[in-house]
Amino acid sequence: CAKSQGRGTVRFFEPVLAARIRDRRALEHDLRHAVERGELQMVYQPQTRVESGAIVGFEALLRWHHPERGAVSPELFIPIAEETGSILAIGEWVLRESCREAASWDKPLRIAVNVSPVQLHAPGFAELVHEVLVATGLSPARLELEITETALIRDPVRALATLRRIKALGVRLAMDDFGTGYSSLSNLRAFPFDKIKIDRSFIRAVDVNHETAAIMRAVLGLGRGLGLPVLAEGVETSAELAFLGAEACQEAQGYLLGRPGPIAHFAEHTASAGEAPAGTADPAATPD
Ligand code: C2E
Ligand code: MG
Ligand code: MG
Ligand code: MG
Repeated sequence: CAKSQGRGTVRFFEPVLAARIRDRRALEHDLRHAVERGELQMVYQPQTRVESGAIVGFEALLRWHHPERGAVSPELFIPIAEETGSILAIGEWVLRESCREAASWDKPLRIAVNVSPVQLHAPGFAELVHEVLVATGLSPARLELEITETALIRDPVRALATLRRIKALGVRLAMDDFGTGYSSLSNLRAFPFDKIKIDRSFIRAVDVNHETAAIMRAVLGLGRGLGLPVLAEGVETSAELAFLGAEACQEAQGYLLGRPGPIAHFAEHTASAGEAPAGTADPAATPD
C-alpha cells in the first residue's frame, strides 16, 4: 500500500492522485449525460479519390462540447465512455445522427462511421444497424463502418458472426488504423473487410522517408492482391498526395483535402448542382 513507499512520497502524491480520480469521476458522470444534454456533435471529413480528387464520402467524427471544459478530444473521452459503458448510448446516437445526415444529402455519397469494439460486441449490434437504416431511409450501400483490429482480437468468433450479419445488410466494412494492430495480415483474410484504411503514421513524410514508402507500397500491393481498395489517412502535404497518386492508392483523407467540420461547410458537395445554398456559388463569398 501507499505507506510502504515512504512518508515523503505519500504526502506528495496522494492529493494529486485523489484530484485525478475526482476529475476522472466527474468526466465519467458528465459523459453519461452528454447525449441527453445535447453536448455531442458530429463533424465530417471528406474522403476523396486520389486519381480525380472527387469527394466520394465523409467520415463522421464525434465532438463533445463540455459546458465548462470546452471541446474534449475523442482520444480522451472515447476510452472513458468504453470503460463505463456510456459508449453504447453515445455510439447509437452517432450512428443514427450520421445516417440521418447522409440520408438528407442530394448526392449518394458514402458515410463512414466509427464503431467501438464495445459496440461491436454488445448484443444486438447488427440489429441496431438494420433498425437505424430502416428508420433513416439510408441505403445500406452508402454506410461504411470503420472497425479497428482491437475489436477483433477479444472474441474473434463473435466479431466474425456480427460482421457477417452487418455485411448481409449490404453495409460496407473498413479496417481502420491498419498497421497499428499486431496481427493485421491474418485479420484481413479472416474478416470480411471491403477496404483498408492505412494509419496516418504511415503517410507522414512518405514522399521522403524510404522506410515509410516501402511499407506504403507493401500495403498497396496487399490491397491489390486481396482486391481491397486502400484509403490513406492523415494526408497533409501535396508531396504525400503525389506519392499516393504515383503508387495508385485509391482514396485519401486528411487536412490537405479537408479538415473535419460541420456538414454545412461542405454543402456544395452534398447538394446536387444548382441546388447549393445561396452564397456558395458566389466565388466572392468563399474567400479560400
Ligand atoms: P480515426 O477514426 O482514425 O479518425 C481519424 C482522426 O485523424 C480524426 O481525429 C481526424 O480528425 C484526424 N485527422 C484527419 N486528417 C488528419 C491529418 O491530416 N492530420 C492529422 N494529424 N490528423 C488528421 P479525431 O476526430 O480527433 O478522432 C480521433 C479518434 O477518435 C478516431 O480516430 C476514432 O478512433 C475516435 N472517434 C472519433 N469519433 C468517433 C465516434 O463517433 N465513435 C467512435 N467509437 N470513435 C470515434
Ligand atoms: Mg475512423
Ligand atoms: Mg483511423
Ligand atoms: Mg484512430
